[in-house]
Amino acid sequence: MTHIVAEPCVGCKYTDCVVVCPVECFYEGEQMVYIHPEECIDCEACVPECPVEAIFHEDNLPEEWKSYIELNAQKSEECEVITEKKEPLADD
Ligand code: SF4
Ligand code: SF4
Repeated sequence: MTHIVAEPCVGCKYTDCVVVCPVECFYEGEQMVYIHPEECIDCEACVPECPVEAIFHEDNLPEEWKSYIELNAQKSEECEVITEKKEPLADD
């Protein structure tokens, strides 16, 4: 099992989540972050850190965001790891 970053993360990147992950399994995409499904240990530490509730246990992922399971798996392979908090993306 793993945790999944879903649609509410798009455009946010406050990245409070990445700082607390004990196994550094967040990866930085253009518009959001992704969790590597084989690295996540389901510790739940990141879940309360996200201000927009974008992170779900795979079993609790709302139906409309099921495609994010594959997206997290794919993008976490392609993107660079992110372990430090960043400034939020600009609005423009
Ligand atoms: S805190 Fe939430 S919205 Fe922000 S980068 Fe992390 S998962 Fe995405
Ligand atoms: S559940 Fe734990 S191990 Fe998985 S991404 Fe969140 S902080 Fe990292």
